Amino acid sequence: FGALDAFDPEIAAVLVGELERLRGGLQLIASENMSSPEVLTALGSTLSNKYAEGYPGRRYYGGCVEVDKAETLAIERCKSLFDADHANVQPHSGASANQAVYGAFMSPGDTILAMSLPHGGHLTHGTKVSFSGKWFNAVHYGVDKDTEDIDYDQVAALAKEHRPKVILAGGSAIPRLIDFEFFRNLADEIGAIFWVDAAHFIGLVAGKAIPSPVPYADVVSFTTHKVLRGPRSGAIVCKEEHKAAIDKAVFPMMQGGPQMHTIAAKAVNFKECATPEYQAYATQVIANAKVLAEALGERGIRPTTGGTDTHLSLHDLQPVLVTGVDAEARCDAAGITLNKNAIPFDPQKPNIASGIRVGTPCVTTQGMGEAEMRTIADLIARAVTEGDADPDHAVSKAVRAEVTDLVTRFPAYPR
Ligand code: PLP
Repeated sequence: FGALDAFDPEIAAVLVGELERLRGGLQLIASENMSSPEVLTALGSTLSNKYAEGYPGRRYYGGCVEVDKAETLAIERCKSLFDADHANVQPHSGASANQAVYGAFMSPGDTILAMSLPHGGHLTHGTKVSFSGKWFNAVHYGVDKDTEDIDYDQVAALAKEHRPKVILAGGSAIPRLIDFEFFRNLADEIGAIFWVDAAHFIGLVAGKAIPSPVPYADVVSFTTHKVLRGPRSGAIVCKEEHKAAIDKAVFPMMQGGPQMHTIAAKAVNFKECATPEYQAYATQVIANAKVLAEALGERGIRPTTGGTDTHLSLHDLQPVLVTGVDAEARCDAAGITLNKNAIPFDPQKPNIASGIRVGTPCVTTQGMGEAEMRTIADLIARAVTEGDADPDHAVSKAVRAEVTDLVTRFPAYPR
């Protein structure tokens, strides 16, 4: 890391340590990925220095000639990628993007209908610990007990009963495709705005591997760092009629100066997303997730909804009598990074949980395919059912050795 090694060896050591952690283990957190060196170059650039409140051509600061070019490229590439009327690329994160959507369409006390957190939604979808649940009246739908997929009858009934101003679809632990047409028709029936939080799956849409919410939704918010594989950030696309409301809500309502280095990195990422290689990657992410979910299921680690259509699967550990928190710790000790996750109707508290969530963006970026997913399922099953949170336990050591072998063949950030 050049001059940083000499000036601040402690932080330089963290950067090296994190790179080695990524290289040394299996990364299966569904919301993570490994963005390209080109994206990281833009992130680490002098564009970070620039104040550019406002929008291209309408700034509150001088000297914006170069950053205007970067933001214009990011906007145009984003619109073209998603065939959207308008794009705002300034949100600092997924939560900031969501805050702006609330700001554009709702006033304090208004009602929103969204997926409940324990059934797969997100904190910003009206939970009590978030601004969204403190300032707005959130009504939540969940999944059907039998199918474990969205309970569309309940969504319709709650919409008609509560007549929300906004209906929100999307979440953090939804393995199946969402019926956007259903939500659009329902929103039209009750005169609501239809918002999709596509943070998790927008990368699959960008890669043309699953249907897009953009033709159906009034507004689509998303993060740029998950399957999409861009910098850690957010963005919003919307219909032309909502353009002014969204832009005003992002700035000046919710944010100050945009992060121009991150916006340049988003532009690089959107260009990457338009390549045939990216489309092949997006298709492979899903193929890998399907095999991983099925192979874990064959080992008693049951996929909810019976599998997945996307990049992630959610697994019920009750059949193997292990909690989510223990499974996460045992996998960690074996060099496998994943997260515990509540499953629908979970009898455990969220900090214990009965499930794990696994995702394939990182391992697919590393070039792994279906054969490696079967190996990974075997490694996870051994760590979870026979292993221990102690890294010196024989099973932790044995699994870790096989993980090392696998990631050596498919290196992250090859040297
Ligand atoms: N929305 C959904 C569905 C998410 O899964 C996440 C992050 O996990 C967010 C919003 C928030 O994104 P961020 O962590 O960038 O604020």
